[in-house]
Amino acid sequence: MTTVTAGSSTLIDRRNLAFLLYEWLEADRLTERSRYAGHSREMFDDVLELAERIAKDRFAPHNRAADEQEPHLRDGRVEMVDGVADALAAFFEAGLAAASMDDAVGGMALPYVVSMASFAFLQAANSATAGYAMLTIAAANLLIANGLPEQIDRFALPMMNGRFFGTMCLSETQAGSSLGDIATRAIGQGDGTYRLFGSKMWISGGEHELAENIIHLVLAKIPGGPVGAKGISLFVVPRVLVEDDGSLGERNDVVVVGLNHKMGSRGTVNTVLAFGDGEFTPGGQAGAVGYLVGQPHCGLSYMFHMMNEARVEVGLGAASLGSAGYLKALRYARERPQGRRRADMDPSDRQVPIIEHPDVRRMLLAQKSYVEGAFGLLLYCAKLVDDQLTLDGEAERADAHLLLELLTPIAKSWPSQWCLEANSLAIQVHGGYGYAREYEVEQHYRDNRLNPIHEGTHGIQALDLLGRKVTMHEARAASARRRHRRDRWPRASPRGRTRRARTGACRVAGATPGRHRQAVPASDRVRRGGTRQREHLSGGCRTHRRRLDLARAAPYCRATRRGLLRRQARGGTVLLSPRAAQDRTAARPA
Ligand SMILES: Cc1cc2nc3c(=O)[nH]c(=O)nc-3n(C[C@H](O)[C@H](O)[C@H](O)COP(=O)(O)OP(=O)(O)OC[C@H]3O[C@@H](n4cnc5c(N)ncnc54)[C@H](O)[C@@H]3O)c2cc1C
Repeated sequence: MTTVTAGSSTLIDRRNLAFLLYEWLEADRLTERSRYAGHSREMFDDVLELAERIAKDRFAPHNRAADEQEPHLRDGRVEMVDGVADALAAFFEAGLAAASMDDAVGGMALPYVVSMASFAFLQAANSATAGYAMLTIAAANLLIANGLPEQIDRFALPMMNGRFFGTMCLSETQAGSSLGDIATRAIGQGDGTYRLFGSKMWISGGEHELAENIIHLVLAKIPGGPVGAKGISLFVVPRVLVEDDGSLGERNDVVVVGLNHKMGSRGTVNTVLAFGDGEFTPGGQAGAVGYLVGQPHCGLSYMFHMMNEARVEVGLGAASLGSAGYLKALRYARERPQGRRRADMDPSDRQVPIIEHPDVRRMLLAQKSYVEGAFGLLLYCAKLVDDQLTLDGEAERADAHLLLELLTPIAKSWPSQWCLEANSLAIQVHGGYGYAREYEVEQHYRDNRLNPIHEGTHGIQALDLLGRKVTMHEARAASARRRHRRDRWPRASPRGRTRRARTGACRVAGATPGRHRQAVPASDRVRRGGTRQREHLSGGCRTHRRRLDLARAAPYCRATRRGLLRRQARGGTVLLSPRAAQDRTAARPA
């Protein structure tokens, strides 16, 4: 058996990943369900090993070069650094793209939670190159879920094996968050095909030579349809038309007219595309040939299939970059000698590594809690994908689906905000060196800065969460959440709440003043499984046991804070964060 060990990776902490996957989410028990019956934990570990190896050997080596020499246009062709194509070929050849798909479409039918965990290694090693794979997998999944059988054969299957790559073409210059305002038109040709005219802005992976073909999934409006978002349809627009036998035919009328130059994530080429400008004339006429997916005017709901998947993957990308930054900051803090202990300021003593300074430890602990919290939340969401597919009862499957819908905007936004903060702290731990381009942490920050913006900004996720998800189906998602938590994690026994756990939790709380509460959500859930896990871990290492204690002790932090607030309200003298004290004063009647 290949055992997952902590290792010295600067991508993802393997020990924490194993903890989340097996001890908390019990991913190994998924093999008791018929869909995953052929698998085992050994197999899951092998997939993680393989992904880590590809990430280190193929994705990481060109991460810096792709940032320094961003893709550029030469005679209408996009050129980029060597290494991108090889890395992606290795990923597709290993079968990782189709890992969670059915055997019928060439997949391995692995649990989604394992497939997602393996993808995190690639994102941590080189998020820009991983972006091409992510878009392609999401586009293929959308077609497999909503496309006609011939669309699946012709476009989706070649994407699953990396022969074709995919994009999502939603945004236009005048329509970013507000997709109801898109102006791209699709004119029916009477033979079941459409011709598209318009332009798309910000399209990642819109033009390159990395694959034989690029399959664009394009939102457009069929004239005469309803106004706004209800009139949006979805089309497959291949860069090169695909013949019945799968071979490539005429060049379609879709061209790149410019590239956007970005702050980070530079290795993923970002394009402005023109559809139907007449640059090419397939079938002797201008207009990009497109094929309708599903029903007319329902395009946005199909696109949400891709967007929801992409949103969780964006969260995963943010967590992975947070993790890469944290592990590098940790290594640097152990190696960088600077200053002496405050208790012993003898200048003739040797300098201590900066990890010995409490403020540096505070910054490391904050990063660790953001990253581990984010991974917990994301893998929990990934497990819900498996649950909605494979739980026994229909009601249980529906609950898992609702809960996933509710959590998706959080899974996108929370890691994007706090793991970006983790990257900022990683720079801070490096001091001036962190601000220099010689050290990778500044690139991680720039790469991660994209995540609160694309796939729906923070503001749009908030609107989605409160305006749609919380209230959908008579607000059943929130009660599904309660049911799921109760069934899955019965309360830990009071005996489990040790003094040591309380002390540990408060130490973490103190390490990130005013912020620790945001870092808690995933571990908050972990606590309920504490007793069982503790037994499972008997004989395990001390750090590991403490993590469970800390996770379980989260309510103590909250209870303590609530108690402190109450005491202060009664006039007692307690230490509160300035913000909490301010809130309290404002709330107190005059
Ligand atoms: C690097 C990169 C890659 C991208 N890749 C793709 C891609 O592959 N395919 C694709 O289709 N698009 C892509 N995008 C586009 C991306 O999804 C949009 O940038 C994003 O949706 C925001 O749209 P916008 O830039 O037009 O900003 P705007 O919509 O103009 O928003 C500007 C600000 O106003 C706020 N705002 C807007 N509307 C509201 C509202 N109703 N209520 C409250 N606040 C609001 C936003 O939150 C934001 O802070 C990419 C963008 C970038 C930067």
